[in-house]
Amino acid sequence: MENYSDIHKNMLVVDGHCDTLLDLYNNNRSFWEHNKAGHLDWPRLKLGKINLQFMAIYIEPQYKPFGALCRTLEILDYYHSLNLTTLTNKEHLNSLNPNSHLFLLAIEGGEALEGKLSTLRVLFKLGIRSITLTWNQRNKIADGVGEKESRGGLTNFGREVIKEMNRLGMLIDVSHLSEPGFWDVISLSKAPIAATHSCCSALYDHPRNLTDKQLKALGEKQGIIGINFFPGFLGNKSAKIDDVVAHIEHAAEYAGLDHVGIGSDFDGIETTPEGLEDATMLPKLTEALLKRNWQEDNVHKVLGGNFIRVLQEVLPE
Ligand SMILES: [Zn+2]
Repeated sequence: MENYSDIHKNMLVVDGHCDTLLDLYNNNRSFWEHNKAGHLDWPRLKLGKINLQFMAIYIEPQYKPFGALCRTLEILDYYHSLNLTTLTNKEHLNSLNPNSHLFLLAIEGGEALEGKLSTLRVLFKLGIRSITLTWNQRNKIADGVGEKESRGGLTNFGREVIKEMNRLGMLIDVSHLSEPGFWDVISLSKAPIAATHSCCSALYDHPRNLTDKQLKALGEKQGIIGINFFPGFLGNKSAKIDDVVAHIEHAAEYAGLDHVGIGSDFDGIETTPEGLEDATMLPKLTEALLKRNWQEDNVHKVLGGNFIRVLQEVLPE
């Protein structure tokens, strides 16, 4: 058998979530240098061989609800200054190869829309292809997981957002969304959806994790869960790669092997599992799956193939 690093090198790797943009911007860290701080930058992305990296624009609490759009544009402007290759359509997806490194722009927090569909359309024109509808609080679209007692789902505006995202060709991200909101999106969206960076409640009961019922529904919707690397969601303070693998295997059992990916949450999490300290360590995840007798085809799916299939169904021509 080829060794695991060759196998990793020859496949397409997709990471469904990181907060690197904000970390770089706020801490004046260069994307082009191999930093000691943080988890991801250009040299480390190449070492981890990530072919498509979702880049989230996370909106900090002090910009909510006022100033969220302006802050989004500020971080977007910074992203554009890096001159990276942005993936926005099916043609770009087809051009992905094991040596290319593209980026998908996402917004983490529907506050950025400030209640307007016109803003959504303009953000689409600026390259945004995914929106995490809420963070943990309530916004004009829906309630986040932090509003557990309210039992609120999608608002009327939220319903309009789902329809417009479907029409434009944007990936709806339900990570951080309240459970009633999740079910509203499942019944309303015409396209597959993603929970880009969550884990499984059955293994660790945390509001950010998805129940087996939610995993099953996500699979039936042809969607995807990107397993988050945060030990606080994995349910083990001294988590190792095997804890990530356990969540991947559980999600594969309930959502299906075609509906699991990775959403590292690099640069958005304070701690990381031992052995997955930063983006350079991703080949170790490939190794861990192969060591557990995963077929190579299935490793390809989880490390990137599944996210590519979902985007193939969602993104515009
Ligand atoms: Zn998040």
